[in-house]
Amino acid sequence: MSTIFSQIVDGEIPARVVYEDETTIAFLDANPLAPGHTLVIPKDEYERLNDVPEDVASDLYATIHRLIPAVEDAVDADASTVAFNNGSEAGQEVPHVHCHIIPRFEGDGGGPIHGVAGEPPSLDDDELDEIEADISSRA
Ligand code: 5GP
Repeated sequence: MSTIFSQIVDGEIPARVVYEDETTIAFLDANPLAPGHTLVIPKDEYERLNDVPEDVASDLYATIHRLIPAVEDAVDADASTVAFNNGSEAGQEVPHVHCHIIPRFEGDGGGPIHGVAGEPPSLDDDELDEIEADISSRA
């Protein structure tokens, strides 16, 4: 069963496509959080960011890089929030990698990306040392 975004890629359901190349496509979000809210996806179906092969990830970033100024300029935005919900626990509803480009305007009442997580943890230096070492040993 293909994702709703694969159905858009295949032309089976309509979308307001703003950019397309061999490996990526960008279209307006059906439930925009701001005018110009755009989704950028790899055409092939990958659920999470780390499932995307490096060459496709490069193409995806190139399209995001291209679309940010296009979107901001089109709606005269002051800035944009650019984000991926990576996994269902992080709020990902469609299991097909997608980058949200959400235009932001001075005084729009929205928040920074710091608002997406729950209560901030209180971590002492030992815990931070351990986390630092753990991540760097895996990177
Ligand atoms: P997520 O929560 O998975 O990060 O975001 C999924 C996004 O896809 C939502 O913002 C939602 O409005 C958008 N969306 C869901 N179904 C469709 C659709 O059929 N067409 C378009 N253009 N956007 C969709």
